[in-house]
Amino acid sequence: MIKDREFDLSVSAYGVVRQYRYDVAILPWGATEPHNLHLPYLTDCILSHDIAVDAARKVYELYDKRCMVLPPIPMGAQNPGQRDLSFCIHSRLETQYAILRDIVSSLYHQGYRRCLIVNGHGGNSFKNMIRDLSVDYPDFMIASSEWFKMLPAKDYFECPGDHADEVETSTMMYYHPELVCLDEAGAGNGRGFKIPALKSGTVWIPRDWNKVTEDTGIGNPRFSTEEKGRKFAQAVVSKYAEFLKDFAETNEPAELY
Ligand SMILES: [Zn+2]
Repeated sequence: MIKDREFDLSVSAYGVVRQYRYDVAILPWGATEPHNLHLPYLTDCILSHDIAVDAARKVYELYDKRCMVLPPIPMGAQNPGQRDLSFCIHSRLETQYAILRDIVSSLYHQGYRRCLIVNGHGGNSFKNMIRDLSVDYPDFMIASSEWFKMLPAKDYFECPGDHADEVETSTMMYYHPELVCLDEAGAGNGRGFKIPALKSGTVWIPRDWNKVTEDTGIGNPRFSTEEKGRKFAQAVVSKYAEFLKDFAETNEPAELY
């Protein structure tokens, strides 16, 4: 989607970067894990990154706000059972927090005060890390989001699921059709909990991935199309652009209210 060097925000060379002050650092965060039988391990990094790049471009075009998209972090938290699968990497809370702390301390040192996490992996959760970081860096604002929850997926897809589903598959077909082998996809049948409160989500416990799915997917990707992915991705990008404008205009945490 990105054509010219000026807007090539995540792979910008320092020759471009050194000319500007950036309003917001966008941090895409993914995982390294299987995605059903048809999407790459890097899916959560690729999608969070590509959405972030398009959002950065859009907020620049519409509002003249400049965002730097950092390289995506591939270290994701995994449910039990996922780590049994070849090359699925579970990243501990301490590891993720150490990574985020190092990023924030570097950005802070460079004079930046705003960071937006664009998360692409449902198992990741940053709230308590951000709460702790706000103790250490009270004037540094870190906002957290999940690109796939920026808008209700049910308005764009026939049967959105949880993992390697129609949402992720369609969005990948839009950005990187060459990386999707839809013919090879499993049905993504997800087995629910027996206990009603767990089934309804009222009470939470991690799902054992080997018990709940046979192909690592949850949600049927069969109805995925590039067109659905395009519509959803572009709507999500617009939503991000609006937030980034408002965020960029906020000079300190007290101005958030
Ligand atoms: Zn994913």
